Amino acid sequence: MKMSKLFIQTLREFPSDAEVISHKMLIRAGYIRKLSSGIYSYLPLMRRVLKKIETIVREEMDAAGAQELLMPFVQPRELWEESGRWEVYGKELMRLKDRHNHEMCLGPTHEEVITAVARDSIKSYKQMPVNLYQIQSKFRDEVRPRYGLLRGREFIMKDAYSFDVDQAGLDREYQNMAKTYTKIFERCGLETKMVQSDSGAIGGSVSHEFMVITDQDSGENDVFYCNSCDYAANSNHAVSKLPEVNTDGGFIETKIVDTPNTKTIEELARFLNIQPSVILKTLVYIADKEPVLVLIRADKSIEETKLMNALGVNEIRIASAEEIKELMRKHGFDAEPGFIGPITGVRTIADETVRGLKNFVAGINQTDKHMTGASLPEINHYADLRLVQAGELCPQCGKPLPITGGIEVGNIFKLGTKYSKSMNAVFLDENSQSKPYVMGCYGIGISRTAAAAVEACHDENGIKWPLAIAPYHAVIVPVNIQDAVQTEIAEKLYKELQDAGVEAVLDDRVERAGVKFKDADLIGFPFRITAGKTAADGLVELKTRSTGEVETVTPEEASSRIIKNCKRQGT
Ligand code: ATP
Ligand code: MG
Repeated sequence: MKMSKLFIQTLREFPSDAEVISHKMLIRAGYIRKLSSGIYSYLPLMRRVLKKIETIVREEMDAAGAQELLMPFVQPRELWEESGRWEVYGKELMRLKDRHNHEMCLGPTHEEVITAVARDSIKSYKQMPVNLYQIQSKFRDEVRPRYGLLRGREFIMKDAYSFDVDQAGLDREYQNMAKTYTKIFERCGLETKMVQSDSGAIGGSVSHEFMVITDQDSGENDVFYCNSCDYAANSNHAVSKLPEVNTDGGFIETKIVDTPNTKTIEELARFLNIQPSVILKTLVYIADKEPVLVLIRADKSIEETKLMNALGVNEIRIASAEEIKELMRKHGFDAEPGFIGPITGVRTIADETVRGLKNFVAGINQTDKHMTGASLPEINHYADLRLVQAGELCPQCGKPLPITGGIEVGNIFKLGTKYSKSMNAVFLDENSQSKPYVMGCYGIGISRTAAAAVEACHDENGIKWPLAIAPYHAVIVPVNIQDAVQTEIAEKLYKELQDAGVEAVLDDRVERAGVKFKDADLIGFPFRITAGKTAADGLVELKTRSTGEVETVTPEEASSRIIKNCKRQGT
């Protein structure tokens, strides 16, 4: 490809509405353009990256015994009613009507359709196990589409679904997929961690997420993983051992004290000259429209996914000042937020840290007052609701638990019979007994993986694509295209590399060398060969983008090095 012909426009500045590096760089380097919130065009460079990821995914899924199909993007309401998800899926499900007033939706995922496909075809135990996958655009009307391709509304996903006769079969396929995913991300040149993403509760669902490890501020999630043992979990599910702290407030006498203007834990702790670890914090949440009091030791915070799971609700949010006032009024109190305490008759849940509190300090639903020397009210529901924080200890081995950023690029789930039961998708077993399939599902965000690669591999000048998923392997830059020697060497290298199967770009533009170098770094070609002044002496410059290393070598050496690297990658 000649750079002058490449359909690309790099921008001088980062776009102003982009918050994360991958979004900024993919726009600026000419990979994507925004059409509407969370909806992007994938320009030719991006399409090449996506295709490479898709090829790796296809090769590894096929090698693992899965078969590719393609299901419809538009799906009828009836199917979603069979599974019961038309009601519960919420606003992320984009619903529409056809000209006959028939309700449909845009596929956000395909459990319903695949279960219907299987139901029509898999009638006997002899037809299993089977694993079917597709690569397709999905649509989810996300509450907060942001971060470019990391959380779009329309995005590309690989989704696979397995069908087995029993749990043992599913367990085997789950392992098979876990291994396959590890290979896929390794081949993409990405460091991932497989982390537990279920609650771990017995009888609960089993699932794992694959997280690309990034700097802490570029991920959407925090990941905790132990360097000493195999513990790894994302912040939604991580648990930890707490270092010892004092949880006895030492207030022997129970009394109500004035605590003016102590709306925050910090203000209260300072005013009473105590540690937050001897204060009971009471938060008001709205869980599926009902108020819930959530208690936790005040030096710790609530992890909302854990809270949602513990309460068994679908939606959760912190109550507004207005809603807190309303709750106070209803129970005969008149306290401002910051002075809330336990209330009898209101649904209450407490984090495990609350159990250890003694002679502590708590709100009593009166503005500017607290109780010292408080003791615990009767609490019927304790659960682990705590957000793990840096400095806490590994739950398995007790060593300090490091925290890092992570982006979920894939996940695997043991669905069991959830869909086959509700949709009556059954087969006949060896004894001619009718049984529901035992299912698993396995997703990979193709477009998110591309963006995650940028998050993991970049510097201030641009993208440093892993060789396996780079849009092109190398760029050749003649510094002065008026110079016959330079252009001749560049053209020759260009041909040689292409003949050897290397995807090369020749920067034939009439531009200053500085501009060409900047673009090469921004776009992220893994290798750059520069034919400049030394060309007359038969030497070129080879730059490796990932390390920044620049070497002066012969053109033959430069091309053979690039060819070797590409061969080693199998690209
Ligand atoms: P998340 O928790 O990030 O919303 P999810 O649990 O909804 O993800 P799945 O429904 O299991 O994800 O989808 C499978 C994969 O699709 C995810 O692992 C992720 O890589 C990708 N994915 C999900 N939602 C989006 C999105 N809005 N934009 C881009 N990729 C996405
Ligand atoms: Mg989601």
